[in-house]
Amino acid sequence: MSSVPIVIVGGGFAGFWAAAAARRVAPKAAISLLSPLDALVMRPRLYEADPHTLAAPLRPLLQPLGVDLVLASANGIDPAARLVHTDDPTSASLPYDQVVIATGSVMRRPAVPGAADAYSIDTQAEAIELDRALAGLAGRDPLTIAVVGAGFTGLELALELPARLAAHGRPSQLAPARIVLIDRAPVLGAELGEGPRPVIEDAVDRAGVERRLGVTVTALGRDVVHLEGGRPLSADAVVLCTGLAAAPFAGLPDARRDEAGRLEVDPYLRVSTQPGIFAAGDAAAADTGGGHRTLQSCQHALQTGRVAGENAARAALGLALVTYRQPNYVTCLDLGAAGAVLTRGWDREVVDAGGSAKQRKRTINTSVIYPDASHGAEGLLRQSRLDPAERG
Ligand SMILES: Cc1cc2nc3c(=O)[nH]c(=O)nc-3n(C[C@H](O)[C@H](O)[C@H](O)COP(=O)(O)OP(=O)(O)OC[C@H]3O[C@@H](n4cnc5c(N)ncnc54)[C@H](O)[C@@H]3O)c2cc1C
Repeated sequence: MSSVPIVIVGGGFAGFWAAAAARRVAPKAAISLLSPLDALVMRPRLYEADPHTLAAPLRPLLQPLGVDLVLASANGIDPAARLVHTDDPTSASLPYDQVVIATGSVMRRPAVPGAADAYSIDTQAEAIELDRALAGLAGRDPLTIAVVGAGFTGLELALELPARLAAHGRPSQLAPARIVLIDRAPVLGAELGEGPRPVIEDAVDRAGVERRLGVTVTALGRDVVHLEGGRPLSADAVVLCTGLAAAPFAGLPDARRDEAGRLEVDPYLRVSTQPGIFAAGDAAAADTGGGHRTLQSCQHALQTGRVAGENAARAALGLALVTYRQPNYVTCLDLGAAGAVLTRGWDREVVDAGGSAKQRKRTINTSVIYPDASHGAEGLLRQSRLDPAERG
């Protein structure tokens, strides 16, 4: 068998599992994974304490699989020459037979003055920066923290802040920190639908988190939020949790994209306008098979990564491709001291809440999303298999 080059761009959940699945299908292929950092960042955990611990080194995961880690960012793609260009002069351009674009997403900072100055938890470095700020603020009284964006991430962060300030030594005799959740949507967790909303509202009330809903932010900084038609809100820290868009690399191929900048892919996760290009994770917009589009979520990144990697290897070897389908959908939202809420299905029917749902969230965050390298390459290749229930 010839050694066909397969290049994976991005070392997040989708990219890592694409590499493992490609290796399972094509044992002799030359597989490279491009990532600016030797780290699989546990992005869904970045609202938690100790963000400096929330990554796993990529090299020890890729080495047993015989996948070459290229520490660089991709900054161009030439589909005619089948080359991925990088910002590293030593690896300059990588030839590919098949490429998987798994470059993930970045937070959409609002287009208002001062937005660049606010904290965020989009990357591990940003989450660490916020954590340092919280450590410095923990003893301040009064203390106000504004969280802009009351979606999934903003809710998890706001509800986790009291425990994080306490862990940073906030004296219990001080007044509780004032935490203000701000959103232009008129409800909390607008994108989560009505099912879990009563549980979320109850958790927010019990935590004493203030709401400023249905308001538009017109300008901000690290210590102030200006609201349309209202008085500015002074804060000791302002954190943005304002949603995700595809990272810029997905904008390079000549292809169709959705409003979040994600590459439209066919049922095999091919960017169908471009031969030899697959996309997965937050960089791709795929049909889950039941009429719903993938979301920028871990469960979709883990599975689309596996399918795109498997199909890139199949295409390289001239084998039939497998169809991506993932009808099952769950969400598990951390509610801080109130536990968590678990929903099932696209209508987000609440199936569990409180302490037992929190156990489930802990399992997801500390086990499910981590590759288990304890059984070496064999174990990783086994985990790269597609779930038979969701295999096309
Ligand atoms: C704070 C936060 C909380 C979240 N909570 C949840 C949750 O509870 N549940 C859930 O399902 N999802 C959650 N998400 C979303 C989830 O993290 C993403 O859906 C998931 O990380 C997507 O995986 P990915 O591999 O597609 O992208 P990413 O994890 O973003 O990884 C992409 C990788 O590609 C790299 N990259 C980007 N551009 C290039 C380039 N040009 N060249 C080389 N490499 C590049 C990046 O450095 C990154 O390492 C959360 C996200 C955040 C930020």
